[in-house]
Amino acid sequence: RPVIVWFRRDLRLGDHAALRAALDTGQPVIPVFIHDETVEALGAAARWRLGKSVEALGKRLAARGSRLILRRGPALKVLTDLISETGAGAVHWQRTYDRDGIARDKAVKARLTQSGITAKSFPGALLHEPWQVQTGSGGPYRVYSPFWRTIRGLDPGAPLPAPSRIPAPQDWPRSEHLDDWRMGQALRRGEPVVAAHAVIGEDAARDRLERFIAERMARYPQDRDRPDLPGTSDLSENLAWGEISPRVIWHRTRAAIEEGDAAAAKGGEKFLSELAWRDFAWHLLYHAPDMDRRNWRPEWDGFPWRGDNDDAERWRRGITGEPFVDAAMRQMYVTGRMHNRARMIVASYLTKHLLTDWRVGLAWFADCLTDWDPASNAMGWQWVAGCGPDAAPYFRVFNPATQAEKFDPKGAYRRAWIAEGQKDPPETARSWFKAVPRSWGLSPDAPYPAPMIDLKAGRERALAAYAARKAGE
Ligand code: FAD
Repeated sequence: RPVIVWFRRDLRLGDHAALRAALDTGQPVIPVFIHDETVEALGAAARWRLGKSVEALGKRLAARGSRLILRRGPALKVLTDLISETGAGAVHWQRTYDRDGIARDKAVKARLTQSGITAKSFPGALLHEPWQVQTGSGGPYRVYSPFWRTIRGLDPGAPLPAPSRIPAPQDWPRSEHLDDWRMGQALRRGEPVVAAHAVIGEDAARDRLERFIAERMARYPQDRDRPDLPGTSDLSENLAWGEISPRVIWHRTRAAIEEGDAAAAKGGEKFLSELAWRDFAWHLLYHAPDMDRRNWRPEWDGFPWRGDNDDAERWRRGITGEPFVDAAMRQMYVTGRMHNRARMIVASYLTKHLLTDWRVGLAWFADCLTDWDPASNAMGWQWVAGCGPDAAPYFRVFNPATQAEKFDPKGAYRRAWIAEGQKDPPETARSWFKAVPRSWGLSPDAPYPAPMIDLKAGRERALAAYAARKAGE
């Protein structure tokens, strides 16, 4: 009886425990991707990017004598239909650790098991399962440094090889067509704009890792904070859709550390410690499933953050008049990505200078990022806003102007994204004007907007609100 392998955000063949276990049964394998409510809930850029990843996986499977069956509908219904159509006796999948995903998977497992179908979930999205990493006294970690100290010495195990052939069933069940799903429909700026910046699929992710190790790793500790330099791996886009496993990154980097010189070792260690932030984010989300919607520290619940407002709209549009902030917001709109340092600056500007609720920013990131990940996004926003575990103290308000001097010293990043005032602006800066809706009424020939808010006044307003909250504690 065939085994169904249900792919979700794990769109790869290498290091895939659920697929490997299906192959080990010796039965035919039916790979499936389901367009269920979790796909409907994705932001525009993420949904488009997921579609590309699904397409790439379909091609990889076809090259191995297999197919990716596409179906739309609630997961349980689709799976039970497929089981009755194909006579499959088992369903395998790789675990997710977010609230909605866990609820769905639990219900599916219970119902399938009741009907005598083997339903098995496997690890693979993280270096370590969130319940396996525990503090000395037995609970979850809330602080990153001891979490890192613990997992730094833990071997996540050797990655599993990708299969060269996948046994096909005698008859394939019907598949829907990816084009009919119109995964890019909500991307109003047009697919080609974002597509020009995307690096899609398992092979491309491996190449990215190799390039990072060969060209960037030794300088990573110095360059990783510089949005004007190609200093980081850019792998978050591939990790988000499971095109590469963190375990592959871990092992390959460890090997490069062994083989390399002192600079490579230092860079590699730093890189792995950043990769561990991703595991930490999922660890937090697993243990605090509402982290994407509630302040992790309840004492922040009464904080006078403003809800959505006109200032936040200017922030979204990249016309605040604060060049570092606008450059970053424009970069994200066009490319679906934003440098980590810039994410921190724009998030701080929104939650502190504009005194706006972090959830307003989180939602816009979720709509724009091709590497959107519910755990890292929620942790990032709560970290900057000051209400998360192990958060930056609220009184540390990033000054976008001095941050720009430090991390974009020659202005290359700002010039790359802000056309106004430049005689011959680069294509990146112009592409943003072509991408934004006409209704925003923007032109590269108009003067660059004056700052929306005086940085000192914004900072003082934020600190006053914070002092009032502390006094009320
Ligand atoms: P590298 O520097 O090459 O790091 C390697 C890998 O380590 C990354 O791919 C990523 O998986 C992990 N990593 C590095 N830094 C972090 C971090 N601070 N938190 C979690 N993981 C990290 N990351 C996402 O993947 N998706 C998001 O939706 C997301 N939203 C964010 C929102 C805010 C407000 C902030 C401050 C950060 C957010 N991040 C998010 C984290 C971080 O900005 C990105 O992971 C990073 O920019 C990815 O670039 P890279 O792959 O070149 O990173």
